[in-house]
Amino acid sequence: MDRLKVKIIEEGRVSGPSILKVDSFLNHQLDVSFLNEVGKEFKEVFKDKEVTKILTAEVSGIAIAAIAGLHFQVPVVFAKKSQSLNLDHDTYEGEVYSFTKEQHFKIRLSKRYLSKEDKVLILDDFLANGEALKGLRQIVETSGATLQGAGVVIEKGFQHGGDKLREEGMDIRALATIMSMEEGKITFR
Ligand code: 5GP
Repeated sequence: MDRLKVKIIEEGRVSGPSILKVDSFLNHQLDVSFLNEVGKEFKEVFKDKEVTKILTAEVSGIAIAAIAGLHFQVPVVFAKKSQSLNLDHDTYEGEVYSFTKEQHFKIRLSKRYLSKEDKVLILDDFLANGEALKGLRQIVETSGATLQGAGVVIEKGFQHGGDKLREEGMDIRALATIMSMEEGKITFR
């Protein structure tokens, strides 16, 4: 998606060896008219797949998933990262390892909102080591629903999470794939 690449080059800030900050349009401030283009693109990319529900994780996946939900005309559910009192006790769980926090944590989704009849598209903002997608896939598998694929806005190909998950048969599409960010210079596939 060319407009995405231009926005990454013009507005992205590389932090350390592997973190890309896109706070001006995706992770802090939301450029909703641009995110509408992103949602439309996901619909185009997955046009051959039947989707009854979009699944993401809080917080940063929600904006993209919600706008994509308008284009797919399906409900959007998001897995929660903390177990609060207002979350149902009967939940599907996925395990995620955070490389930045160096710890495992659970993501949870109420069993009310996913069933074995669902055909699920997972959406997220970034794909790095693949842990978030793995945790979300675990939720889909536990529910008995069918996983139709996963879409990410930005894949950091040099962290190889996507390679492993594709080898395992997951249909993952990225709207932009970054192959290198060395010395702050971003190179796309
Ligand atoms: P993974 O689980 O694939 O290692 O990382 C994906 C998750 O970590 C995404 O949901 C995203 O929130 C966060 N993440 C990973 N890398 C980056 C990055 O370079 N920039 C931002 N803003 N978030 C990232």
